[in-house]
Amino acid sequence: MPDLDLEEFRRLGHQLVDWVAGYRAGIAGLPVRSEVAPGWVRSQLPAELPEHPQPFEDLLADVDRVVVPGTTHWQHPGFFGYFPANASLSSLLGDILSGGLGVQGMLWSTSPACTEVEQVLLDGLATALGLGREFTFAGGGGGSIQDSASSAALVVLLAALNRSSGGDWRETGVEGTECVYVTAETHSSLAKAVRVAGLGARALRIVDPSPGSRAMSPSALAAAITEDLAAGRRPVLVCATVGTTGTGAIDPVPEIATVAHEHGAWVHVDAAWAGVAALCPEFRYLLDGVELVDSFCTNPHKWLLTGFDASMLWVRDAAALPDALSIIPEYLRNAATDSGEVVDYRDWQVPLGRRFRALKLWAVVHSHGLEGLRAHLRGHVALAAEFAGRVRDDPGFTLAVEPSLALVCLRVVTGGGDAADDAASRTVLERVNATGSALLTHTVVDGRYVIRVAIGSVATEAQHVRALWEQLVTTAAQVRAEAAAAR
Ligand SMILES: *Cc1c(COP(=O)(O)O)cnc(C)c1O
Repeated sequence: MPDLDLEEFRRLGHQLVDWVAGYRAGIAGLPVRSEVAPGWVRSQLPAELPEHPQPFEDLLADVDRVVVPGTTHWQHPGFFGYFPANASLSSLLGDILSGGLGVQGMLWSTSPACTEVEQVLLDGLATALGLGREFTFAGGGGGSIQDSASSAALVVLLAALNRSSGGDWRETGVEGTECVYVTAETHSSLAKAVRVAGLGARALRIVDPSPGSRAMSPSALAAAITEDLAAGRRPVLVCATVGTTGTGAIDPVPEIATVAHEHGAWVHVDAAWAGVAALCPEFRYLLDGVELVDSFCTNPHKWLLTGFDASMLWVRDAAALPDALSIIPEYLRNAATDSGEVVDYRDWQVPLGRRFRALKLWAVVHSHGLEGLRAHLRGHVALAAEFAGRVRDDPGFTLAVEPSLALVCLRVVTGGGDAADDAASRTVLERVNATGSALLTHTVVDGRYVIRVAIGSVATEAQHVRALWEQLVTTAAQVRAEAAAAR
């Protein structure tokens, strides 16, 4: 037999589950960030691939020896960088199921459950989030699990190009007059989608924020669209962000959608990180105006306990993505597709093939319940509020912007002016990261260096956030003292 014998699989599977449990049990004791030099991992592995079968135990030994030190531990409780990449153990169980079934769910007919479990989950989550019936299959819309918010942005742009051209885009491609509206804070995946779609960066309009904010100004959007129309250009897509990557800013979706729809542009809401918080009634305001938009995306693989990759994309018109993307070669023809009664998710994405991702999301929702998901989100928001309170109360620090959900952006205050504060903030971040007990990342807001603290790892508890605060205070005091001594 070319595969593992089943008894051997059982034995190794148990061993592997034990390995993962042991890894998670000890993760807090590992340095969050991998400190290996470029090329170190490659240098540790034999260049020659094995000619003969090797024991699985040897592979696990290499994982311990090479992979673990070469890994940045995203599930570490001290991981506060970027946004979290939750990979709960319940999600892992679902992923094992998915791998065990080994399904390729490109068409409904290639595995009905792969499609319909996803439909049921996405309809249920649309309701739980408060998206409204129009985004469910019963309401004429529907959701799908994409690999990432970046892919969601790309397919939405393609659907928007198709709709805005009355379907001509499928035949003739882009004209060169299409415009896509974003802000300086919009995720770079929109700029990439514009490039991949063949529009070129000239299609991208960076709309100004409202004065004193980082959120898109609806009047600036209206002005930009008016100018483009006067010049013979075509507004195709407006992307509003709910929870920008840098600072968690929230674009005013209702006003943006009103302006965009006057001119027939598709409105996409990118809520990759923040959107899942709408599961809690107190954060449902994040979805204000969503009843006016064409598509909405949020990532369970960031803050909703689900291992990468799983990004949920809902569209108001279930036909929009297939209209843009469906191509049916003879070898994929089947009675179910011809009947028009099924969803073929290959028409909702760029690749043909797709994994049974719904299983890990299902496992998460099933084992935590909506109540457990809300508690997870609320817990981190409360920790962020406590942390932000400490920043506010300490004259040695300042909040760079108001905290957004579980994201706190701060700067070190030295008393020596902006440049000194920026330099100190950078040094403090680097030193904290070098200790290995926490990982922070930065951004730049209005030209100023800002430390981002994104709370949201599954394992992160109050003690870890408090320890981070102590470390920031101590490190900043050292940096200030060194700067004073050098003057
Ligand atoms: C993280 C993020 C993305 C990209 O997410 P992927 O799923 O990794 O593509 C897009 N938009 C926003 C607002 C994000 O925070």
